[in-house]
Amino acid sequence: MLSLNDPISVIRGIGPKQRALFAKLNIFSVEDLLYYFPTSYQNRRNVKTLDSVRHMERATIIATVCGEIKEIRTRKRMKILKIPIKDNTGRGFITFFNSSFLKNVFRKNETYYFYGNINIVGSEIELNHPEYCNIKHDSLEKFCSIKPQYGLTKGLTQKRIIDNIEQILLENPLILKEYLPGGILKDNNMCDIDYAIKNIHFPSSPRALKVAKYRLVFEELFFMQLGLIMIKKKVIKSNKGIQFKALSQFNDLVKALPFKLTNAQQSTLNDILGDMQLPKEMNRLIQGDVGSGKTIIALLAMYLAFLNGYQSTLMAPTEILAEQHFKSFKNMLEPLGVNVGILSRSVKNKDEVISQIRDGNLDMVVGTHALIQDKIQFYKLGLVVTDEQHRFGVRQRSFLKQKGSSPDVLVMSATPIPRTLSLILYGDLDISIIDELPPGRKHIKTHHITNKKVYKLYDFIKEELNKGRQAYIVCPLVEESEKIDAESAVDLYNDLSETIFKSWNLALIHGKMKADEKDSIMKRFEAKKVDMLISTSVIEVGINVPNATIMVIVNAERFGLAQLHQLRGRVGRGQFQSYCFLISEGKSNVTKERMKTMEDTNSGFVIAEKDLELRGPGDFFGTKQHGLPELKIADIFKHKEILKKAQKDAFKVLEDYRLLDLEEKKRLKYKVRQLFGDVFKDFTI
Ligand code: ADP
Ligand code: MG
Repeated sequence: MLSLNDPISVIRGIGPKQRALFAKLNIFSVEDLLYYFPTSYQNRRNVKTLDSVRHMERATIIATVCGEIKEIRTRKRMKILKIPIKDNTGRGFITFFNSSFLKNVFRKNETYYFYGNINIVGSEIELNHPEYCNIKHDSLEKFCSIKPQYGLTKGLTQKRIIDNIEQILLENPLILKEYLPGGILKDNNMCDIDYAIKNIHFPSSPRALKVAKYRLVFEELFFMQLGLIMIKKKVIKSNKGIQFKALSQFNDLVKALPFKLTNAQQSTLNDILGDMQLPKEMNRLIQGDVGSGKTIIALLAMYLAFLNGYQSTLMAPTEILAEQHFKSFKNMLEPLGVNVGILSRSVKNKDEVISQIRDGNLDMVVGTHALIQDKIQFYKLGLVVTDEQHRFGVRQRSFLKQKGSSPDVLVMSATPIPRTLSLILYGDLDISIIDELPPGRKHIKTHHITNKKVYKLYDFIKEELNKGRQAYIVCPLVEESEKIDAESAVDLYNDLSETIFKSWNLALIHGKMKADEKDSIMKRFEAKKVDMLISTSVIEVGINVPNATIMVIVNAERFGLAQLHQLRGRVGRGQFQSYCFLISEGKSNVTKERMKTMEDTNSGFVIAEKDLELRGPGDFFGTKQHGLPELKIADIFKHKEILKKAQKDAFKVLEDYRLLDLEEKKRLKYKVRQLFGDVFKDFTI
């Protein structure tokens, strides 16, 4: 008898060579193989006679070879095997390309099942490359079943996978383990694991397949949710947080702001103040579109921590952004007696800053990843903020948090995420949404153009520069690459600054420059000493120069929708009408649809939904980076409804955890660990 944990080499017929092939598909154990689900199915149940088939349909026919098998050579040196067939109702041909070996497989006057695509040319019926079986070898019922199709790797055949799975299931009827608690199965009217695994591979009917699939999708989403809730519970339960007090100086600052908070900002701030005043840890996500004004909210929360005698820190994904936050924090808070510092790779007096953090001489520290180094120790850290959270993983967030003893945590993201999805990605966080832009913002006019129109565009840019505005041009690459035919920022800069834009001040900025070099260029841009900035996507997040009104994106098809939206968000930050130009020759439908989406909407939420639809969630979020499990069968986008149910049940199971029997508990834990792997190393269940 096999068991689920056995390596696949215990399966008859799997030697070292096969084992290596399976490994390529991430199949190592018997369980891996049983959970290697088909990517599609052939439904061969459409049995037809030759007089009733239709062009282009997929059908099974039962026919007899009724003449000589001929091999024809075409002009393009293809060999076509042509086999005449007939049934009671008519005649036709089977054809195979370059398959001489089949000549001896089919025999005259013998009858076969054929399944494939029907091709009717003139009055001649053809089946090209059908699946086939001699009726002597199989029953019609068997041949006509729903056949699984698996993702393959070179050297591994469908038949090999099918045979191996069939063999395991036949010879080891008790091998599968039920991981879902009985109550959950019953409440949801779901099939057991035996039925599910059998029918996902070898469905006895379309309905059985549906039933099996539902259960397996549910199971996967259920365990993912369970894991996320466990993380969340662990984080909250184990740590009693700091109870901050509301103080009158806080309201003084809110009143003294140069603008009135929007309603959405105010309600988010209320959420945060509520959290901070509880003796529990805050774990809150602020989700707000580009330009919605998240920074000021972080600043206010950090100020409250300061008033309560705690240090706080804000981590940003790039040096430019950290620098920008540092400056605005300093401007606003130093007059109020707050000592603000910055820590990033390129900061010169690093050691001094580090010791000031340790001694508590700095009240607030803004920085980059440099903040999570081992040697950084805070004196009394009370609040941790990460900006542009989508750039960081779950782990980095937890590293920063560990710099304090149960500090409150605030994370901010400009990647708008459909609500159901944020429950997954940030299942361990409470969420506040800023769904409103500050008043007076103008809609950014967006146009998709091709290179032909680029000179017209340059004229338009000149007009804007003449009015005193500034512009960005963003290119996807730093240097010319032979492989990728994309315009490089360096080349474009050289070109434009010597010709068309000779009389303006242009500057170049890219990721390979030293941080202080980048920094000084950004400073000059902010001070209006540079009219047009040519850059790679290093300027993507957070940069705030309200006088800039034009964003040009070269080879726009190379950027994802979310990224384009971020880039576009660099303009439209002041009182002037702003424009975004997407230059792209991309002719694929997906590219066209992306460009059109950008033209049609300024809403990050609409764009996020569209991006999900066009690319799928895996790509969009880089789930691995988030430390989320890779899903085998569930699709968090497609299966939103099942996800909601699974989530509810996961909560319920944890609430009634005591009521489960020991074996049920053991299996739940096993499955969560298996799904989350690495991430769960940080957490004990
Ligand atoms: P993001 O949410 O993209 O990080 P920022 O925090 O950088 O946005 O804010 C964008 C700009 O809007 C900043 O210049 C900021 O000072 C300004 N701002 C923020 N809140 C308001 C408000 N309530 N009214 C007017 N301007 C605001
Ligand atoms: Mg921001």
